[in-house]
Amino acid sequence: EKTPVTLLGLGAMGTALARAWLTAGHPLTVWNRTPSRAHALAAEGARATESVPAAVAANTLVVVCLLDDASVEDTLAGADLTGKDVVNLTTCTPAQARARAAWAAERGARYLDGGIMAVPPMIGVPEAGGYVLYSGARDLFEQHRDTLAVPAGTTYVGENPAHAALHDVALLSAMYGMFAGAAHAFALIRREDVDPTAFAPLLADWLTAMAPAVHGTAEQLRGGDYTKGVTSTLAMQVAGTPTFLDTADEQGVSPELLAPFFALMRRRLAEGGGEEDLTGVIDLLLRRPE
Ligand code: NDP
Repeated sequence: EKTPVTLLGLGAMGTALARAWLTAGHPLTVWNRTPSRAHALAAEGARATESVPAAVAANTLVVVCLLDDASVEDTLAGADLTGKDVVNLTTCTPAQARARAAWAAERGARYLDGGIMAVPPMIGVPEAGGYVLYSGARDLFEQHRDTLAVPAGTTYVGENPAHAALHDVALLSAMYGMFAGAAHAFALIRREDVDPTAFAPLLADWLTAMAPAVHGTAEQLRGGDYTKGVTSTLAMQVAGTPTFLDTADEQGVSPELLAPFFALMRRRLAEGGGEEDLTGVIDLLLRRPE
């Protein structure tokens, strides 16, 4: 017998999750604020409920995938969570996840927080490589691991309920840094007779080749010696920054994406970090404003 699942929230993501569980043969009870979004799923075998308390009462495992933390609070306010296993896949901040975990515990539920590292078309398609970061109740995760693995891969990052959201936002923040760099690179070639589709493979391969540098950064952070294994010193890199800024200027491209990072590099150099590479910049970011 497949574990029955209650799912609250049938937006783009919730609907994809619902289809994955239905396809895998899990009995599924669904609720959505706008009931019409449940019609197609009901035709596919889901049980659509009119009220949140009825949906929550139907099964022990209650998965929530709503817009934001406030909508989770609104939605679950009137439901009896005693003895429930609440899995919250709604994107939130670490502090919101921590508070939501305490809130669930006060109501007698076990709580697992999730951060979805996938877009809806990747859900239910294992080869697409999407996965969900989980943190919080380990016993809940272990017990429902197979059910949770139906829509996407599972990566458990510890009992602190805030850590799934923390990892989620950290990974996406790095992604935006990468996209920022790619945006600057495309801007540089944009006014020239360079075909962006010829440039893109070079860019993707270069980013892929550089990405493993994060392992060296991690080793330096753990060991505390930021000069260990350095091949491109900060002094050398800062000396090279005028080339980047002058090229941007020559191409008529704003340096506004690159400039803040270069400013941090120069500050670290001025503080004596010339023999490091870029790891010392992390410490500058950790400083609180005066
Ligand atoms: P949608 O905007 O498609 O759906 C939002 C859902 O939240 C709908 O079911 C909506 O109900 C419901 N909702 C919004 N406000 C309330 C409220 N106050 N009370 C009750 N229900 C409410 O979003 P997604 O499905 O795409 O996203 C859901 C979660 O998944 C988000 O936290 C998102 O960050 C996360 N996620 C989404 C990804 C994506 O690519 N789509 C990727 C990774 C994570 P109604 O139908 O009535 O409007």
